[in-house]
Parts: sequence; structure tokens; C-alpha cells
Amino acid sequence: MYKRILLKLSGEQLQGQYDSGFDRERAHWIAEQIKPVIADGIQVVIMVGGGNYVRGSQIAGDGIQPVSAHNIGMLSTLMNSIALSDIFNSANLSTRALSSVKIDQFIDQYTFRRALSHLEKNRVVVIGGGIGRPFLTTDTAALNLAQEMNCDVVIKTTKVDGVYDKDPTKHTDAVKYDKLSYQEALSSPTISVMDNAAIGVAMDEHKPVIICDLLTDGNIKRAASGEAVGTLIS
Ligand code: UDP
Repeated sequence: MYKRILLKLSGEQLQGQYDSGFDRERAHWIAEQIKPVIADGIQVVIMVGGGNYVRGSQIAGDGIQPVSAHNIGMLSTLMNSIALSDIFNSANLSTRALSSVKIDQFIDQYTFRRALSHLEKNRVVVIGGGIGRPFLTTDTAALNLAQEMNCDVVIKTTKVDGVYDKDPTKHTDAVKYDKLSYQEALSSPTISVMDNAAIGVAMDEHKPVIICDLLTDGNIKRAASGEAVGTLIS
């Protein structure tokens, strides 16, 4: 059983049944999946993505500076963190959103001590704004934060139940990996489960990463308990 986990939720997961935006039903489902983890005494830090609204790379150009585009991407993640923490609290899952960028009229500023203090009170901590610098993804930000917050593992939930040698939604003969080394995840041209920068941080810091399906009931708890689910990259 891990003591403290970092859960990475991408924008795609938060948009749930919709083409974009925020699916409240999905957020309630996630709250119910996290409750048993907290009940087990495991501390939960969440890094949220923003792809359900805007990714920096999508809107840069035609006059929008790359830095501005990434700042807008970070704002997307902040919208998710505000909505997600509200829903978690409404579902009686005590949660605080913290921002890596200065926006304290909306969300408290992230500091290591503040995050730690919430975790010690058994609150879920949801981080918006990634790591607060442009040209990064929230996957890389998740690994960086996991290192800073001393999380034992990073759990990235996806649409499929792990990493395959090819897209299992397109190929019936796709084979799932139970385990992968960082090097295999980095070097394989067909594996694109996280950007290389994120896997590079994981490798440097020896941080295990679990890739598993969000929508399998109990998966987050099983992964947090140290059971084998999805694919373990280590
Ligand atoms: N972003 C950034 N710095 C960070 C994290 C994110 O600039 O530390 C921006 C980046 O433009 C990214 C966007 O925020 O495209 C949304 O994050 P991401 O694409 O990782 O979201 P996800 O794909 O997980 O939904």
C-alpha cells in the first residue's frame, strides 16, 4: 500500500461524455473512486489537465504568442481544478484546490507547506496550473510535483486498461504490457502514453508510474493499494 499517491486526470477524462468542457457526472464518479483511497489513510494529490478546454499547442499562432497560448492552457487546468474541487466537496470528499500560478482571488496559491497541511488533514489536494511555466504538459508537471510532494507513485488514468503495443481500439491483436521499463517507454515509437519529458523525469527520480483505466470500478483504489492493475512503468 502506498502512503501518498499522485493521480493525473487529463482534460479528456473530465469531459467525460461530452466533446469538450466539464462532465459533472464523471467528476462525481471520480469522487466515489477516491473516497475508499482516503478511507484507507492514503493521501491523494491530483494534477489536472486542461485539454477539455484548450491545449497551448492548439491555439498558438496567427498572432497568439506561444507563451500566451500555454498560459491559456494553464487557465484551462485551473477551471478544471475549481470545478473538480467543488464537486468533490459537495460529494463529502474534503478537497482543496491550489494553483501553481498567482490567481489567489480564485484559488489559494500552491505552496509545499500548504499542500502538506491539507494532506495531513486527510483532504484531497487538486493542483491547477501545472507547474506554472509554459511549454510543459500536465504529465510532466505531474511527475515534477510527485517528486516535490514526495508521492510514492504516479497513477495516470486513461481510456484503456494499460499500455499496448498498438492501439487496442483499432487492432484486435494488440498486446497489453503488464510492466515496462522507463527505457522501453521512451524508446518505443508505438508507445505514446506520456510525453518523453514526463517519462524522463520519472526515470531520473525512479518514480513508478501506473497507467490504468479510469472507468473500471475500484481501479484507483487497487492501484493505490499496490495491486497490479494496468501497466507499471518502473
Ligand atoms: N501547460 C503549461 N505548463 C504546465 C502545464 C500545462 O503551459 O506546467 C499548458 C500547456 O499549454 C498544455 C495545457 O496547459 O497544453 C493543458 O495541459 P495538458 O495538455 O497537459 O492537458 P491534458 O492533455 O492532460 O488534458
